[in-house]
Amino acid sequence: MTRLHTRTPTALAALLLASAAPLAANTPPPPSLAQRADMALAHDDHAYAFIEGLTTEVGPRQAGTEAEARARAWAAAWLRQHGFANVAIEPFMMDTWVPGDIARARVTAPFAQDLVLLPLGNSAATPAGGIEAEVAFFPSLDALRAAPEGSLKGKIAYISHQMRPSQDGSHYGFAGPVRWVGPGIAASKGAIGAVIKSIGTDHHRNPHTGGTSFPPGVAAIPAAALSLPDAENLERMFARAAGRPVKLRLELNPRQLGHTESGNVVGEIPGTNPLLPPVLLACHLDSWWNAPGAFDDAAGCGIIIAAARQVAASRPLRTIRVLLAGAEETGLWGSRAYSAAHLAEPIAVGLESDFGADRIWRIDTNFRESNPALHQRLAAAVARFGVAAGSDPATGGADLNIVRDQKGALVDLQQDGTRYFDLHHTPDDTLDKIDLAQLRQNVAVWTEVVGILANESTAILTGAPVPSAPPIMEQR
Ligand SMILES: [Zn+2]
Repeated sequence: MTRLHTRTPTALAALLLASAAPLAANTPPPPSLAQRADMALAHDDHAYAFIEGLTTEVGPRQAGTEAEARARAWAAAWLRQHGFANVAIEPFMMDTWVPGDIARARVTAPFAQDLVLLPLGNSAATPAGGIEAEVAFFPSLDALRAAPEGSLKGKIAYISHQMRPSQDGSHYGFAGPVRWVGPGIAASKGAIGAVIKSIGTDHHRNPHTGGTSFPPGVAAIPAAALSLPDAENLERMFARAAGRPVKLRLELNPRQLGHTESGNVVGEIPGTNPLLPPVLLACHLDSWWNAPGAFDDAAGCGIIIAAARQVAASRPLRTIRVLLAGAEETGLWGSRAYSAAHLAEPIAVGLESDFGADRIWRIDTNFRESNPALHQRLAAAVARFGVAAGSDPATGGADLNIVRDQKGALVDLQQDGTRYFDLHHTPDDTLDKIDLAQLRQNVAVWTEVVGILANESTAILTGAPVPSAPPIMEQR
């Protein structure tokens, strides 16, 4: 692995001497934006250093807990040390759920053996000692939806799916509802517990946790995710049970803590014209308790910070603001709090990185029709990094509520998600999964895109002139 932030004393002395020497008559011009992007592609180490530092010094950092508070302090210190201005932690209150320390499942009939699972966010606890019940098998969410009202009374529902890896991650939209709403639907039909096949594409014995929710008026039930091998084992048992009931004992002890504090971390690269609305770069700082969150989403924060630093060196026209949102995983608390607090402050354009650290393969915007010249300029600038021009309208990531609420401009830099759901919300989401070459490609693409956007003097969404006073440095 590349050695980071180390220089020999001799090299350092040489550097100091070089910087103290008088400027040569023919000082080369500062690197262009494209050259900075090329430099990032060749050797940016800031994104990796951020991910390495956060996963090493903080590790898992579940929303609303003291671990997330440590992550905020760590990230704010990082931003200050790396040249960001106006660094602040903006606290907000949230409803906090914690997983407890008991997550046991055992098939008691017809083939007795233990299974590996973890609770889903918002799961209720079982009574001490657990619950034991017959399992009702649903091969899909639609099959569960079709079950008659009341038909799951006293049973544990098991819900499966057929998620496959895909470059654009689109199967998450297809399989995800099994986790998002499956336990709630099971509860509404009388189930006393729900287990799902993890929403993932790996075959390690790691359950993929994640949030679930229960409809208004439906009390939460114990809800958990089986690792994919354990889910497949359970399904084989159903195939062999030949009509005999499959019974499961389930014990979980998560709990709701009520209101606790979380917060967003912000920092800025001030633009030379502070009257122009800023460019907002977002990621999220929290992770689930079981995951160091290198991919999800230390990587996203590392990428946006590294790109902002690259662009900072060329003194951009617009301010670049980074938003390291709190409490994304448990319900976009940070995104909502940021929008509520800052809705009246216009944002020029929003971009988010929250899909791991693998290469960017497509750029989408929501101004392809309203500002085609800018859309084409962005696409042309990143084509050399293997990024295709997309025609889907950008919708922005989870932490860009403020831009959606303002009906503002959005750019989506789509990352390769082929292996993302092998790692998502599992203990395997660790630093070693970061591919440095692909991470640097992200920083290079972000540098080009953010650099262009931050130097755009007209409105991003429409290309219309921005009514604003002249830059402060020209005012008398
Ligand atoms: Zn995420």
